[in-house]
Amino acid sequence: MKRTKTTIPEQDVARVFRLHGVRLTPQRLSIWQELSRQRTHPGAEEVYTAVRRRLPTVSLDTVYRALHLFSSLGLIEPIGSDRQRARFDTDMSPHHHFICERCGAIHDVGSAVEDQLKIPPTLACCGRVERVQIEFRGVCKGCAKAESEPHEIENE
Ligand SMILES: [Zn+2]
Ligand SMILES: [Zn+2]
Repeated sequence: MKRTKTTIPEQDVARVFRLHGVRLTPQRLSIWQELSRQRTHPGAEEVYTAVRRRLPTVSLDTVYRALHLFSSLGLIEPIGSDRQRARFDTDMSPHHHFICERCGAIHDVGSAVEDQLKIPPTLACCGRVERVQIEFRGVCKGCAKAESEPHEIENE
């Protein structure tokens, strides 16, 4: 199920920054604009590459620090386990992810899934569940198609 992306509007981002007494510098704003434009749940390096086209002086370190800042302000959410390079989501509305284990693509999945989900009683020993976020993992359509077509053997 395809869903439309709901990103926090720019004026709200500015408000969150003001509220926390943090300066929304032109660099941070450019990084935000780039982040919210991408639908791919980009990682720091992708954001860096895109922002650098507009701001050639920006450093990867600045991008990392900005992403960390956005995340600590609750404007974006890191996805994936720590073992992987962090990817970021600017869509803070409840939804789930389908992650392709071949190409790493992350697709948004509508939130109707958890309506059918029963919280296992064993979770009670851990604490109170406040929200459910599901990570479906598998092979995306593009990769499945590529695998079914004859192709040269790639080096792993
Ligand atoms: Zn894939
Ligand atoms: Zn998402």
